This record gives sequence, C-alpha cells and structure tokens, in this order.
Amino acid sequence: MKVNESQHRGVFLEACLIRHSCAPNCYGMWNSKIGGYTVHALRDIEKNEELTLFLLEFDGPRANRQRSHIDKYGVACECQVCSLPTEENLTNDEKMKEINTLQRFVTRHDNKGPQLWPEKTLHCLDQLAQRCNQFDRRWARLYWEASNVAIVNSDLARWRVFHVRYMRYCINAYGDSKRVDNCRTLLADPSRHPGYCTSTRWKTAINTDPTQLLEGTTGERSLEDWLWRREKPLIPGKLMNFRERKYFPTFADVPMDNALDSDLTDITNSVKQPRRHWCLFGHFLGIGEDDGQTYIKLRDDDGQQFTVASPPVEDQWRQVDPPWTTGEYTVAILYPEKHKFEVEKKDDQKLEFIAINVTDVKRVQIFPISLQKFLELNDRVHQFSEEKDGFRTCWVATCRKKYSSSHFEGELCLKCYMYWLCPDCILLAEDDFGHEADCKRLTKPDMLMLLRLKWDEFRNHATFSLTGS
Ligand SMILES: [Zn+2]
Ligand SMILES: [Zn+2]
Ligand SMILES: [Zn+2]
Repeated sequence: MKVNESQHRGVFLEACLIRHSCAPNCYGMWNSKIGGYTVHALRDIEKNEELTLFLLEFDGPRANRQRSHIDKYGVACECQVCSLPTEENLTNDEKMKEINTLQRFVTRHDNKGPQLWPEKTLHCLDQLAQRCNQFDRRWARLYWEASNVAIVNSDLARWRVFHVRYMRYCINAYGDSKRVDNCRTLLADPSRHPGYCTSTRWKTAINTDPTQLLEGTTGERSLEDWLWRREKPLIPGKLMNFRERKYFPTFADVPMDNALDSDLTDITNSVKQPRRHWCLFGHFLGIGEDDGQTYIKLRDDDGQQFTVASPPVEDQWRQVDPPWTTGEYTVAILYPEKHKFEVEKKDDQKLEFIAINVTDVKRVQIFPISLQKFLELNDRVHQFSEEKDGFRTCWVATCRKKYSSSHFEGELCLKCYMYWLCPDCILLAEDDFGHEADCKRLTKPDMLMLLRLKWDEFRNHATFSLTGS
C-alpha cells in the first residue's frame, strides 16, 4: 500500500498494536522525511507500562470519547481517564468542556484572532495552557497558536520564546522530521512566516531579553506573566500614560465599526460594549470639504494620516479659537471606530474610503498643542510626578536633581498637584520655574479627565466638556 503525505494510509504491523488512551504517553505519526511511522514518548515511561496513543477523531467529555471509541473499535475505552471515579470524572468533563470552548474561541472566524483580537486570543491560549498538564499533547498546537499571535503583531521577542518552546516540543514528539526542519528554518529567518509583522501593534526586537523587560516594573511579575501578556491592573490614583497603546491605539489598531470582535469591545446579548476606555490622538493637518461633506485630516503618532468624517462636530471644528490655520492642534477622539464610507460622486462614480466616524460631539476635544508636544507634556508629567525606585526628579530645568523621597521632603505644585520640586529649589522661592505653561494645560478639566480616568474600568462612556481645552 502506498503512503503519501496527503492521504496517510498504510498498515504498520507494530504500531497498530498500540492501543488508544485519552491521556496517551506517546505520539505517533507518519514521518515522510525518514519514510516510516514513528512513535515517540511524551513522558518518561515506567518499565512494563503499556505504550498508548491518542487515536480518536474527537476529544471532549467522557460520553463523547466513548461514542467515538465504540464507533471505531466496537468497544468502550478503558483508559485511565475513562476509568476515573464518577466525582473525578465530572471534574475532568468540566475541564474538557472548557478546553473545547477555549479552542473554539481561538480558531473562530477563520483564525482572524491573531490579527483582529490578539489580546483576547492570547488570553484564551493562556487559559488553555493553565488547563494542560506538563505532558499534554495539546502543547504543540498551543505554542504554535501563541507564536502566531506574537509574530503577526511584530512581537518578535515573545515569538522567539513561544517558537523555541514549540520547537522543543516538536523535537520530543516528532523526532527528526520535516516539521522540526521547518521550525529551524523559521527560527533562522522569521520573515518566512506568512503572517510576519502584519500589524506593528506589539513591536519588540527579536533579541530583547525578557528578563530585562521585567525589571523596574512594580510588583511580582514572572516571565510567564510577561509571556502571556497577563493583565496588570492600573495602579489606582496613578496618572495615565498616553503612550500606552492598549488605551491609546493608533489609527491602524482602531477597530472597524462592523468588526466581528475586537480587543477593545465585548459583545453581550448582541450589544457591543467597551471592555475599557480608549482614545485616539491625531495631529491636525487640515480641514477639507468634498461634495459638501466636511472632513478633517489628522496624523497619528506612527505618522499614519487618516480622516475624520464627522458631520455632527462640524460646528465645533469651525468654532476653534484661534482659527485652525494659525496654530498646532491635537485632536482627541474617545471610543473611535473606523467606518467604511461610500460616497456617490456627481459623475455617478462611487468613492469608498475608511475614516473615523464621530457621532457624538462630546467624544471629541481639540487641544491647542501639536501631538508631539502633547506627548512630551505627558512624558514630563510622569517624569516629575512619579517616584522611581524611591527617587523623585525636580521639575526645574536647571536643577533636575534626583532626591530620595524618604530622606528629603520635596514640594508638590499646589496648582496642578502633579510636579515635584526638590528641597533646594523650594528655598529659591521663584514663581514657577518655567512650569506655568504645563501647569495651565494640566489643570484644564479635559486634560485632568484624560489623566485621571480609570481607563481599565469601563462603566459609562467618558465625555469631554464642550468648552475649548
Ligand atoms: Zn479513554
Ligand atoms: Zn503645577
Ligand atoms: Zn531642584
């Protein structure tokens, strides 16, 4: 009988003696590289212990496995897992159902997860990983799926860790095979992966040392926490950092309004609800009109230009003072979504374009400062308001002294309550030490809202005040 890779047919006189188990100790497969059926141990095997393989079409709760086993072999499965006492079996069945649900979630909608809802997909894989024991045969697929999520989003540091783990599993379970060769080729040149860097949202360098990333973060974060991107809750009372892409995506990562799912939203009872607050910043480039429609051109922090088509806010754009032409502006849009517009042109041509659709005027605010300066202001807020390893940094440009906050008493600006002065500068009794411009911007209600909102807890939509900022 001829065996080929696409059909996998053959009679293997020795391997066919190996029985099925729902928790097998071996993995068997046709190895086209060496032209034979191979069986590799998935764990240490005791003397006289029976070798077993997983040979069913379906996995799941015991009843399903039994049906599948009887269909194939005419008798019920009597493996270790199927022989569990009722109580333990119920627990195991529960776990199997959870695993199946999680697996379905990972691959639903034609595997679009890695690109369109990577955070949820990786979280799901993490949940799966926590339900698998050390010798589970699901690890190969798990690490493979996780490595895909990472590489699609340019997270090469994570990809490397997942891929190496996947490769190690393959070497153990498949031995010298094409699959292992492919792993090695990919490790040497990840750009051969078909999904390589489709999005840049999680960009990391391939040679990043993960242990370096862990240092300096607050609290106990293990390598596994980092690897699976486990949620670290925002520290209450800490001012928000506008460079956190999780809450401040660039245009590329803003979801479509008709998206099946996204990392920013959840669908409960067919109603889409934000999972957290999010906001898009754009540097103002110009205002235009096309066939009577006003649109605004913006550029995000990645340099990507995009348009906001927004009839309801037209008046607001026009009221901006000073007029758009004389200054630099940053436009902040809360809960933005992309919409595909179709415009009928006069000559019967149809124009299609994707733009941000703003439907509620209270979700837009215009700050009279360039996006670059807006983000630099954000950086100063964190530099002068936060303690790092017990040290504060004095805000005065000519000082910038770092002082231990437990040994010296600094002074907080009594207008914005954000910037700290060092003990020496307090004595100089200057008026503002060049802080006034920042202080004024930081005390405007909408800026305070952006800095102080609990971004990870969504209860109601946040709104901007309708006055200028
Ligand atoms: Zn069984
Ligand atoms: Zn201040
Ligand atoms: Zn100072």
